[in-house]
Amino acid sequence: MTIGLLALQGAFIEHEKVLQSLGVDYFEIRQLSDLSKKMDGLILPGGESTAMGKLLKDLELFSPLRKMIEDGLPVFGTCAGLILLAKTLENDSRIFFQTMDITVKRNAFGRQLASFMKLDFFGDKEIPMIFIRAPYIHSVGANVQVLSSFDGLILAAREKNMLVTAYHPELTKDTTVHQYFLEMIKNR
Ligand code: GLN
Repeated sequence: MTIGLLALQGAFIEHEKVLQSLGVDYFEIRQLSDLSKKMDGLILPGGESTAMGKLLKDLELFSPLRKMIEDGLPVFGTCAGLILLAKTLENDSRIFFQTMDITVKRNAFGRQLASFMKLDFFGDKEIPMIFIRAPYIHSVGANVQVLSSFDGLILAAREKNMLVTAYHPELTKDTTVHQYFLEMIKNR
C-alpha cells in the first residue's frame, strides 16, 4: 500500500512520521508528474487552506486530484485538508474540491491563540486531539457519518472514501485515526 501525501505546505512531515511508524510506504506530491505514481490513498495535511488551494491550482494539481477523489480514491484531510474537501464554507467565499457533503466554519475557535488539546472520542475510542486554529463542521449531509463531536460541534466525519478531522492526529502519538484510514483503503 502506498499513500500520496500533499506536500506543498503545512504539516505533512508529521503525517510521514506516523506512516513510517506504521510501516506504510508513501511519497510526496509536489508537482503534476508526482501523480503518475500509483497511490492507494491520499492525505491532505493541515496548514493554510487558502495557500494550499492557490498552490494546487498554480501547479495544475487541483483538477486531477479532484477527479481522483470523485472517482473513489480514499482521502484523509486534517484541518486545512478538511476545509479543502468541504462542499460549503460558512464564513468564506473561496471554494476548493467541494467533494464532501459538509458545511464547515473556518478558524471556528478564534484565531492564533485558539489552539488547545483535549481528550475525546473518535468512534468509541478516546484519543488526544490537538486543535490549531481549527475549523469545525456545522452540519453534514445524510450520507456522512459523524466520528467525533462535542457540544454539537462535529470534529471528525466520513463520507464514502473521504475521512476528515478538524484536529491533528499526526501531532500525537496515537495512531487510531491513521489506522482507521488504512482500514478504509484495505476495505475499498
Ligand atoms: N486555519 C487554517 C485554515 O483555515 C487551518 C488550520 C490548520 O490546518 N491547523 O486553513
